[in-house]
Formats: sequence, C-alpha cells, structure tokens
Amino acid sequence: MYYLRADKWEKEALATTKNQKLGDIGKIELNMSNFANASMKSDRPRLLHDGLLPIADTTEAEFGLQGALAAVPPLEPTQALLDELAAVSASLESASPQDILKWAVDRFAERFTMATAFGPEGMTIIHMLAEIAPKTPIFNLDTGYQFPETLALREKIKERYGIEVELKRPALSVEEYERINGGPVYKEEPHRCCADRKIAVLREAARGMYAWASAIRRDQSPDRSIAPIVGWDKKFQLVKVSPLANWTKKQVWGLITSKDIPYNPMHDLGYTSIGCWPCTRAVSIGEDERAGRWSGTAKTECGLHTQD
Ligand code: SF4
Repeated sequence: MYYLRADKWEKEALATTKNQKLGDIGKIELNMSNFANASMKSDRPRLLHDGLLPIADTTEAEFGLQGALAAVPPLEPTQALLDELAAVSASLESASPQDILKWAVDRFAERFTMATAFGPEGMTIIHMLAEIAPKTPIFNLDTGYQFPETLALREKIKERYGIEVELKRPALSVEEYERINGGPVYKEEPHRCCADRKIAVLREAARGMYAWASAIRRDQSPDRSIAPIVGWDKKFQLVKVSPLANWTKKQVWGLITSKDIPYNPMHDLGYTSIGCWPCTRAVSIGEDERAGRWSGTAKTECGLHTQD
C-alpha cells in the first residue's frame, strides 16, 4: 500500500484504476507491473492539460467526466467523502488560512491546485502557499481581456516566489472569438462570454485534479456568504477549499502590507475588484467593493463560484 503523497506522483498516475476509489481517504493498491513503465517525472507537478483549450459549452454531456471524476484513480463524492468534508469544514471554521491550506495539501497532495485572477486575496494565498507548498500548481484563466497590470503580476510572482503561474487560455483568440460571433460577446451576452472564456477553461484545466483553492471571502457577496471552508463543488466535480472564507478585506490588506506582497497597482486607483477590462470599472467611495464588476447589468459573478 502507498499513501498519495507528492513524491508518489508517478506511482499514483499508474495505479490500477478499476474498482479503486479514494472516498475513504488516501490509500490505494498499486499495479507494480505498470509502475515499472513509469516515465513521468518532473520537479513540479503540472496540470494535466497544457496548451490551448477547446471552447465548448458548459453542459455536463459535452464535457463527460470532469474534475476529480476524471482523475486516475477518481475521487468521487461518496457519502463517506461528503461526510468527511463536512466534518473537516466544521473543524476548520476557526483555523487560520495557513492551517486550512496545510490540511488541503496534506490531504490532496499534487492533485490540489489553485486558480487565481491575481486579486489581493489570491496574492495572499499564493504568498502562503509559497511558504507551505510552493510546488502547488497554480493557474490563471487568461481570457484575453485581462489588464496588462494584472498579467504583470505573473512576473512579479515568479521573481518573488519562484512560482510560475500557468496561463490557461480558450482555443480561440479574442480576435477569432469576436469575429465568429460578430463582435464582442461580453456586450450582449456576458454570461456566455464568461462560460466560454472562463468556466470552460477551468473545467479543462482542473480535469484530473482532486481539489482547488478559491480565494473567495464570505463577506464579499450573498452568493459567497454560504461558502463552506471545504466542500464538494458540484459544478466542477472537485473538492473546493476556501481558506479565506472567514477573512475580511482588512485582514487581507493587513497581510499584504505587513509582508510586502505584490498587488495590482490599479487597486490604488479605485479598482477594488479587477476582472476583464470590458467588465471592470473603478468604484466610488461608499460603493460595494464588487460594484465595478459588470456595472450596469444584473450580473454579479462570472459563474466560477455559483452553482447555477
Ligand atoms: Fe467576457 Fe467580461 Fe466575463 Fe471577461 S468578465 S469573460 S470579458 S463577460
């Protein structure tokens, strides 16, 4: 028997898959004859899908097995796993973000990933991961519409922490996407634009992972207020870990200031929440911190953190 740890990456990838589940936490039988053929070895685990990704709609049928269900061996939301996650989530309610991340890393090893839009919360988690588990694969959903200031943070992260955030892109460039759609989709159909350029890309990027970290805080919006610390994310078929769920904006900026963590300089110009440039504006004093996102429309979330 082997435990699923970071140094067993290639062994785990070759594990016999039939009849194996991880719902009872972390131990699998290995097919040692297959292991003799192991060749995959790298210093830093990579996400399973590098390069350009296909645009597709977000229906389950189109995507087939997703997230942890596509892993080898799969991690399925058995009642035992859901019970475990609920118990862990309750026990971590008062834990520090660092302790929550340590639990996630210990539990899911290299199948634990993080998606970041380089916001202040994401930068805070990257800073913590750099100390706790710097080999955690981290990716950004590069829609093609991000601000240059946002993308510049990727280089700052590399310089400061030696971590290379992977850029995950849709198959179609912005030019191609707008050409086949007769213009920018974000103007009339922002939900479809987010589905094509964010959600579909995350589905592909996280296929085969067990868990992902999100940087949401419960006090950011009604949708986010009910986020557990740890839970099963039905939308992406992954365990979702939200280490900053109980943190406040003040705590996030307190850490950024005290540790001199890199952040987007646009925050100093009134851009409290920064996404794609067509859907982001600076906010005025007294406005909600997310009021500048999809301003003037009913849309408040890109869909990554909602279960609809
Ligand atoms: Fe498109 Fe705007 Fe969503 Fe970016 S935030 S993917 S530009 S709708």
